[in-house]
Amino acid sequence: MANKLIVLMVDGVSAEHYALDHGRFPHFAALEKHGFRVERLKSEVLGTSLPGRTSMLTGATADISGVYANKIWDGERFRYANPDDVRVPTLPARAKEAGLDVAILGFGMIQPESASLFHAPWWTGAFIQRARDAAPEPAEAAWLRVATHQPGERFAAACAAAGIPSEFPKIDAATPEGRMLYGIVADHMIADWVGAVAASEDAPDLIMAEFLSTDSIQHASGYRHDLSHWITAQADLALGKIMQRLRLAGTLDQWNFAVMSDHGHSAVTQSLHPSVIVPGVRTQCEGGSLLVAPRTPEELAHVTEQLAAYGVEPYPNTCIPPEYREQVFVFVAPDGISFEDDNPNETETTGAPGSPSTHGMKPGMPGDDRYALFMGPNVPTGAIASGTATQVAPTLAALLGLDISHYAAAPLFMTR
Ligand SMILES: [Zn+2]
Repeated sequence: MANKLIVLMVDGVSAEHYALDHGRFPHFAALEKHGFRVERLKSEVLGTSLPGRTSMLTGATADISGVYANKIWDGERFRYANPDDVRVPTLPARAKEAGLDVAILGFGMIQPESASLFHAPWWTGAFIQRARDAAPEPAEAAWLRVATHQPGERFAAACAAAGIPSEFPKIDAATPEGRMLYGIVADHMIADWVGAVAASEDAPDLIMAEFLSTDSIQHASGYRHDLSHWITAQADLALGKIMQRLRLAGTLDQWNFAVMSDHGHSAVTQSLHPSVIVPGVRTQCEGGSLLVAPRTPEELAHVTEQLAAYGVEPYPNTCIPPEYREQVFVFVAPDGISFEDDNPNETETTGAPGSPSTHGMKPGMPGDDRYALFMGPNVPTGAIASGTATQVAPTLAALLGLDISHYAAAPLFMTR
């Protein structure tokens, strides 16, 4: 018999980070001890955040799901991917269709209509028009729909019963430090919401949530930096709070847990600036990967030649949906080097990285591998050395007792 499932996505914790430092993360380690660990869960190609989330939701590779980068090509420009860009049914949509009660509490790339209880991620507002963008872009309609969705009375009642606030923190996010603090507090608030909703009288069958600040703090401070250890420990505490609320409610043993990252992280020593190396060319930086939408074959040849001087190589663009493969091309930087174009006044072709730790490296590089842990009544005990990104969604579906015959990949383990 299927039980209930909590999926907690912890952004950007690499397989190596968890393997080397899991003594710092006792709640994560408890999942491993009593459940199942995938030591190296491969990232989606490309290994950036929105493809990582979409892959967890769909079990489809990016060429089929349509979300192959944080910013995807729409025929005219690179723009943020949004939940309406996902071309195949998501796990919550399938679960709801099958009659399950689905709560989405701040997990990105899901349409509000796919859940019976939906709270937007805290970062959608910033995502619609991010301050760090050189030229702020107009709001995408789908993200606006997500950001303005009201979670409703059931959510407010669960928060009130648990004695916790039902709104995001009122912290001034005008400065980078303020934004980071806001994110950390909001991440913790979401964990409180997950615990409160899961422990409520009418607990949903599926709850999906995420803890994002692990990624932003690593980008800002560095791979396995003391602050990165600290923020990952915060995510571990967030899981601990969820479990403790269920323990107090007496329902902990009814829940399966799936905790994993959307991609890994690894140290960066140098960044390349495509806007200076190939000025005027339409490019999109995705960590150690670069998307290029050349206007002509000659421009593509020129870009290929210029980038080669920095050790940058073309990479097969099979992650791009077929109808765009003549328009969008993928390049990858050498190990430990990323692409950055955050500074509109940049004049140097290379420089010290603004993000000393990043992801989206050449596909297959071990730094992009992530951790994944499972525990619960339907989870076997054990471990496997590696798993693919496409195996996540069928694993989650199997834990919910859903039909998995339409997934191309097998689950990571046989459910009990
Ligand atoms: Zn991410």
